[in-house]
Amino acid sequence: MTFQENISLKPFNTFGIDVAAKYFASFNSIEKLQQILTHPIAQGYPVLIVGGGSNILLTTNYEGLVLKNEIEGIQLIREDEQHVYVQAGAGVNWHQFVLYCLAHAYAGVENLALIPGSVGASPMQNIGAYGVEIKDVFHSLEAVSRQNLNTVVFYKEDCAFGYRESVFKNICKDQFVITSVTYRLNKIPNFKTSYGAIQHALDEMGVSTLNIQDIATAVMQIRNSKLPNPNEIGNAGSFFKNPEITAADFEVLRNTYPDIVGYPTAENLVKVAAGWMIEKAGWKGYREKDAGCHSKQALVLVNHGQATGTEIFALSEKIIASVHEQFGVYLHREVNIY
Ligand code: FAD
Ligand code: NAP
Repeated sequence: MTFQENISLKPFNTFGIDVAAKYFASFNSIEKLQQILTHPIAQGYPVLIVGGGSNILLTTNYEGLVLKNEIEGIQLIREDEQHVYVQAGAGVNWHQFVLYCLAHAYAGVENLALIPGSVGASPMQNIGAYGVEIKDVFHSLEAVSRQNLNTVVFYKEDCAFGYRESVFKNICKDQFVITSVTYRLNKIPNFKTSYGAIQHALDEMGVSTLNIQDIATAVMQIRNSKLPNPNEIGNAGSFFKNPEITAADFEVLRNTYPDIVGYPTAENLVKVAAGWMIEKAGWKGYREKDAGCHSKQALVLVNHGQATGTEIFALSEKIIASVHEQFGVYLHREVNIY
């Protein structure tokens, strides 16, 4: 078992923040993970699990052990008339998993094409895009308890999935390492095209008979046209969640801002597009040294090159304060801060 010491984490986070980890190791099996977790270094220092590093902001050197999940493998577990159950190792790249499903005509994740990161992180915040969330196809996951090293199975009802939330971000935070996820995919697709710009993109593509590949292609086109590629400009996707406010408060805001963007969620609640408020508050395209707010999507904070995590965090504080002052709405961060 090898622990690297004082290595740069720049290649391991899509913000491209150059901080160091005191110790670093990777694992490609449950057994190797269990061995590492019993080592005095893992017992004596904080441990941070990373997949693709696309939902983290590192604000300082990590004075502990960073563990990279590299458990690979995708396999069909079972099937019935309507569904297939496919298990993927937590280290599998999420988009590669989507491509695997498209190639096998397994439906359910086509709207989630091109989301960066790993299978293992997909339940963490119940990844979602274009009207689909991972909870819609989630069956179960296997994890190793960091406390006693036992393997545990979580079923959907155990995960408390919510909007960009799960039990793993709350009461089970830092307690488990997810090692594989089993998804229940559909043999007969249930197309979801009403969200965002999907239908428009399909129309432009001239699609007449819809299939899941077309939807994935449309989603990829839209994403490529408006989201910054982390290989070109550091970012972690949406930095903030879309806040929910009461329908009454939304009406008050709409009186002042008739073009405000919001969508009813539960009874009497409206999800307000945080990106719209940030843009309206004047932050879109803003830059302070190398920390900035993306010029095409204000919800995304970016590293233009040499920004530190602290600078990006400081910018997020200013945006939160400014949106609160203008709209009376408090934004919560979606990205995990370390
Ligand atoms: P990491 O950033 O490595 O980790 C995230 C958190 O999960 C950390 O707290 C980490 O400790 C924990 N973690 C990771 N793996 C494990 C594991 N195996 N066991 C236990 N804990 C673990 N998200 C969406 O929901 N929808 C989107 O449409 C979307 N679009 C994005 C677009 C861009 C350009 C970018 C950069 C990001 C986007 N994201 C989106 C955010 C991000 O891609 C997802 O949240 C993704 O699931 C993170 O995966 P990861 O492997 O990179 O996680
Ligand atoms: P968009 O299509 O411009 O829409 C703006 C916001 O309005 C989105 O945040 C979305 O909320 C909401 N929305 C749009 N149509 C909706 C509908 N029919 N019903 C309910 N809500 C609706 O957004 P975008 O920035 O280009 O992103 C497109 C999709 O990709 C979104 O689902 C977004 O969440 C996802 N995405 C996520 C990340 C991330 O890091 N989390 C990054 C990029 C894109 P929701 O966000 O709640 O869906």
